[in-house]
Amino acid sequence: MAALQLCVLSSEILPYAKTGGLADVAGALVRNLRLLGHEVCAFMPLYPAVRAAHPELQPVAVAQQMALQIGAMQYRFSLQTAAFPGTDIAIYFVDCPALYDGRDFYTVDPDEHRRFILFTRAVLEGCRRLGIAPDIFHCNDWHTALLPLYVKTQHSSGPLRARTVLTIHNIGYQGVMPSTAAADLGLDAPESRLDADDLRHGVINPLRTGLRYADRVSTVSPTYAREISEGPLGMGMQSTLSARPDRVVGILNGVDYHDWDPRHDAYLTAHFGPADLGGKRINKESLMAAMRLDPAGSRPLIGMVTRLAEQKGIDLLFDALPAMLQQRDFGFAVLGSGDHRYAAFFEDLARRFPGRVAFRSGYDESLAHLIEAGSDIFLMPSRYEPCGLNQMYSLRYGTIPIVRNTGGLADSVQHFNPDSGTGTGCVFNDYDSPAVRWAVGTTLDWYAVPKLWQTLMQNAMAQDFSWSRQILKYEALYRDLLATPQAR
Ligand code: ADP
Repeated sequence: MAALQLCVLSSEILPYAKTGGLADVAGALVRNLRLLGHEVCAFMPLYPAVRAAHPELQPVAVAQQMALQIGAMQYRFSLQTAAFPGTDIAIYFVDCPALYDGRDFYTVDPDEHRRFILFTRAVLEGCRRLGIAPDIFHCNDWHTALLPLYVKTQHSSGPLRARTVLTIHNIGYQGVMPSTAAADLGLDAPESRLDADDLRHGVINPLRTGLRYADRVSTVSPTYAREISEGPLGMGMQSTLSARPDRVVGILNGVDYHDWDPRHDAYLTAHFGPADLGGKRINKESLMAAMRLDPAGSRPLIGMVTRLAEQKGIDLLFDALPAMLQQRDFGFAVLGSGDHRYAAFFEDLARRFPGRVAFRSGYDESLAHLIEAGSDIFLMPSRYEPCGLNQMYSLRYGTIPIVRNTGGLADSVQHFNPDSGTGTGCVFNDYDSPAVRWAVGTTLDWYAVPKLWQTLMQNAMAQDFSWSRQILKYEALYRDLLATPQAR
C-alpha cells in the first residue's frame, strides 16, 4: 500500500521536551510511523530549554522571520529543524522568542492561548513554505486542537486541504480562553465557527473546537474512550463527543521498550530479565541508598513516579498511607513534581517515617527508571487515567502495579488470582481510602508468599505492550479516514 504523508503536531515530543506521557507518545508515534515506511514530519514549539540543550538545530532557510498577526499583536517566528534521533524524520521547531523565551513549556500567563494559536498557525505556514502537503495532520491535545478548524476554513482548497486526526491524551486540559480572544484566531466571523454555548458562557474552548472539526478523534485507551463519552470523566465534552457521527476510537498507548526494558536500560545499576532476576535486588539497593532509605532485608518497597496533580489520586493516600505504614512493614519511595499540597504531604510523611519513606521533588528521568527497577510494587491510585505509562513500564520491570480500575489502567493490568495464578497486578474499584488500603494490604500479603510473588512477577514480565503492534491501529485509522470521501 502507498506510503502516507503524515504531519504530527505536539506541544512536547521526547527526547526534546517532556512533562508527561504526551511526550513519550508523540515521540513514539513519529518513530514508529516512519518504521512502517510512511513519510513523517513533526512540529513542536522551540522552548528555551530545548534551544539550550540542542545546539544541532539548524534554521530553515525558507522559513525565517515570518510575520503573524494575532489580534492586535504582531509576532515574528522562524523554523529550526533537526533529524529526529536515529531516523531521517525532519522535526521542525517553531521559534517565537516573544512567546516562548524565558518561560516554562506551559504557563498561566494571559497570553497562553496566543502561544499555541501561533504554534498551530505557524505549522500551516511552515508546511506551505516547505512545500509539505500531508495526507493527514495528527493533532494532540488542546494545544493543537484548533488546526482542524484552520484547515476547514482557510485551507478548504489547496495543498493543505488535508484530513485531520485529534488524539485526546487527557480531556481534563482544554485550554479554555476568554471569548474576547476570538479576534486572536484570525478568522472571518470567528463566532460563527465556535460553540455557541461556550460563547454564551464567555469562553472559547480549543479542545471542544477540535472535537467538532477534526475528521477523526481518538484517545489513548478503549476504557477511557468509553468513560469520556458516557460519564462525568468527559469533563463537559460528552455532548460534543456524542454529537459526532463517529465514535471516539480508543487506542492503548504502546511502550517504547528501547528506553524501558530492564535488560538494557542505561539508567540501571544492574540489568535483569525474567530469566535472571538477580539484578533487581541490586537496583533496589541502589535506589534505597540514593533515596536514603534504611537497608531492610526483605522489606517490600512501594514506588511512585508521578505528576503531583489531583488526577493522580494522591488525596486517597492522605489517610491510607500513614495508617498502613503503622500497621505493616514496607518502604515507600516517591518521585514527583507539581502541586505543593501533595509535595507537602509526602515531605511530612518522610519526616514521620524516617528511613522508610523518601520523597524526591522534581523531574528526574534517571531516578524514574531506578524506581521502576528497584521497587517491588508500583502504586497508581489515579482518579482517572487516560492511559498511564508507568503501570506498563512496571510490568516489564517485574514491579507489581497496584492500580485503580479506570482508563488505561483497567486495560493494561489484570487483577491477580492466587488460586489460578493468572493476572498481573492488583486492581481496586472504589475511589476511596478503604479501597486503596485493601489493595496495598492484599499486595503485601501476596508478596509475603514467595511462590505467589514469583508467579506474579513472571506474569507481569511476560506482558507485551510494544508500539509495533499499537501503531498498526493508528495506521488503520488513517487508512480508513482516507478511504472516506472528503466532505466539501
Ligand atoms: P501523565 O502524562 O498524566 O503524567 P503518564 O503515565 O501517561 O501520565 O506518563 C507519565 C510519564 O512521565 C512517564 O514516562 C513517567 O515516568 C514520567 N514522569 C512523571 N513524573 C516524573 C518525574 N517527576 N520525573 C521523571 N519522570 C516523570
